Amino acid sequence: MSHVAPSALSPRYRGRFAPSPTGPLHLGSLVAALASHADARAHGGTWLVRLEDIDAPRTVAGADQQILHALHVYGLSADAPPVWQSARQALYQAAFDRLVAAGHVYACACSRREIADSVLNQHAPRHAELVYPGTCARGLAAGRTPRAWRVRVPDEVIAFDDRHFGRVEQNLAREVGDFVIKRADGQWAYPLAVVVDDAEQGITDIVRGADLLDSTVRQIYLQRLLGVPTPRYLHVPVVEAADGEKLSKQNGAMALPLDRQGVARTLQQASGHLAAFDALRMLK
Ligand code: GLU
Repeated sequence: MSHVAPSALSPRYRGRFAPSPTGPLHLGSLVAALASHADARAHGGTWLVRLEDIDAPRTVAGADQQILHALHVYGLSADAPPVWQSARQALYQAAFDRLVAAGHVYACACSRREIADSVLNQHAPRHAELVYPGTCARGLAAGRTPRAWRVRVPDEVIAFDDRHFGRVEQNLAREVGDFVIKRADGQWAYPLAVVVDDAEQGITDIVRGADLLDSTVRQIYLQRLLGVPTPRYLHVPVVEAADGEKLSKQNGAMALPLDRQGVARTLQQASGHLAAFDALRMLK
């Protein structure tokens, strides 16, 4: 992971690491950061850091600075100062307004409970992900108050080629339903913010954890509606906790050690994970 002189940076490769400051970095997020940084460097590209603090209720004060410090200690330096999503609300509003003006968006009055109930009535498998049944798609019933805003999705397969997982296909209408881009609590939903930011920052290559694989087709669909390019994607298999779950702040993933020995040990662990799934193949 040697540094490349700015003049050698490829204008055709711009990558980013986009952590949510909901807590300190852990091994799982470090693996994603290392993979995206290594891929950018291997391509002589630019690597950026974006702090995804758009979800105010989940954002933890000070976690952004902790993350930036940890990246520094782990030798992951960005090629430009970081940006914070919370400072970019006007961009999300503008994209939202464009989608509304083009007729792609409608107000939804359904609570989570109502959606779950109507899905149960359709005899959907018990543990299936809730597919929004389109209750409010043709306008709100009298007396109903708008809560969230949803984008209409087509009943067609959208596919992309992931650099690790290969061809990924999803029919949004059947598997997801019209999805939320502005939440009932007034917050911008993640798919809208991430698509707007990646486009505005000219990101060509997204390397991130495989937990986001399922939301990628939603993002590609929004890119098409907004008329912005679709980046290349590489989803990195996530590091699992001892219980087989994804390692996360919730199941006790430890904050990364910042002392010299801890850093060396953790870097070895993270590289071991990357090598194990042959991610380094991507560097060719
Ligand atoms: N902020 C997201 C997360 O930490 C990552 C978004 C992305 O890389 O596209 O899970």
